[in-house]
Amino acid sequence: MATVSGNFAHVRQRIAAAAERCGRKTEDVRLVAVTKAVPPDRIREAYEVGQRDFGENRIQEAEAKQRELAHLKIEWHLIGHLQTNKTGKARDLFQWIHSLDSARLARKLNEAAGEAVNRLPVFIEVNLGGEATKFGVGEADVPALAEEIGRLSSLDLRGLMAIPPFSENPESSRPHFRRLRELSRQIESRRLPGVAMRELSMGMSHDFEVAIEEGSTIVRIGTAIFGPRARA
Ligand SMILES: *Cc1c(COP(=O)(O)O)cnc(C)c1O
Repeated sequence: MATVSGNFAHVRQRIAAAAERCGRKTEDVRLVAVTKAVPPDRIREAYEVGQRDFGENRIQEAEAKQRELAHLKIEWHLIGHLQTNKTGKARDLFQWIHSLDSARLARKLNEAAGEAVNRLPVFIEVNLGGEATKFGVGEADVPALAEEIGRLSSLDLRGLMAIPPFSENPESSRPHFRRLRELSRQIESRRLPGVAMRELSMGMSHDFEVAIEEGSTIVRIGTAIFGPRARA
């Protein structure tokens, strides 16, 4: 069986090769290792070979693992849907939020800042395919939400995040990634106060190379590092 460290090295190589192919720097692509359904000892394995950014999609699961891994210097990314009644917890547990999908959630998350001095990096999740089964805001609603987040003093809007409709063929994701980048540019060109769209959170195990070619700055990769997970 492939080891976490072997898989990790392989993914790193593929990220570097994809970046090189399109004239980008490897350092400009951040790898978030997605650890939903992955136990703490395997997270530790990835940490030991140098991984520092980890992504979880559920508050409770993240909280339990973080207790066990409290001594490690990990940056935790929330990549799953966040409920408005869990914003306080989310702020305690995560250094990045990739899944903002409403103005109400943004306001709650802003209020949950408490005494925090650092603005929390956040992304707007966009439902590109208009899929009923997915979270995220429709493309048409992204500019207004960006404007609103720009006014919230404890949030730092970094960019957009999306999960394209799944297909075995990674090329199917390309037009979606392109669309996300274009949407990000449009918002940036409006020069909204408090808004600097510097990042694109896009690309998973099956399509991260295409995402990098289309300008991704954060890839979120689970299966290619930790192997297949049991279906939730
Ligand atoms: C599970 C998940 C990933 C990682 O998916 P893999 O296909 O295992 O790489 C990335 N992003 C989000 C939002 C996820 O829920």
